[in-house]
Amino acid sequence: INLNKAKFTISAPDIRRLPDDTGIEVAFAGRSNAGKSSALNTLTRQKSLARTSKTPGRTQLINVFEIAENKRLIDLPGYGFAKVPLEMKKKWQKALGEYLEKRDCLKGLVVLMDIRHPLKDLDQDLIEWAVDSDLPVLCLLTKCDKLSQGKKSAEVLKVQKTLAALKGDIKVQAFSSLKRTGYDQATQVISNWFAD
Ligand code: GDP
Repeated sequence: INLNKAKFTISAPDIRRLPDDTGIEVAFAGRSNAGKSSALNTLTRQKSLARTSKTPGRTQLINVFEIAENKRLIDLPGYGFAKVPLEMKKKWQKALGEYLEKRDCLKGLVVLMDIRHPLKDLDQDLIEWAVDSDLPVLCLLTKCDKLSQGKKSAEVLKVQKTLAALKGDIKVQAFSSLKRTGYDQATQVISNWFAD
């Protein structure tokens, strides 16, 4: 599978508006500002596939990118965004929860976390939910260019150790969209999910 082939298909406010629940989807989730859009652009080698933005806009929708027939990357609404009204937050979190709970074609979850602040409560909830649902998880610790080599390795080990307790299929990888760190490893894992 070639992730570079990703094409924007649709933005959906809820799961009823998504394409039919067939084929394979790999979903990307993370706190707002974790670097999810940048990672999607990096992994697909496209400059502006996903909208990188600090303001809630398209980030509140479920964005669908088709990479081949019946194979899709899903950009889920960011969570934990501080500066929006509670009502709005509830609405997107509902879309996120519904997608994760009901989407049968979901075959793998990529969780984006800033390497300097990983495993916040909502991140942990999400990863625990995935493990309980027998869904494989790839944690990308983003913006790793901001840390020294030593600190970066230490942080990866710490996250790996914490998550090992969950006994799920969880991989942890340092990632930088700026430097393309972790690009090969991440595309490998995601391609394998699509190949299943
Ligand atoms: P999203 O809200 O999760 O989609 O996050 P974005 O991709 O929009 O990124 C949020 C902020 O982090 C932006 O200012 C990006 O420029 C910055 N950012 C994203 N990835 C990286 C990275 O790999 N390195 C650095 N230094 N900054 C990054």
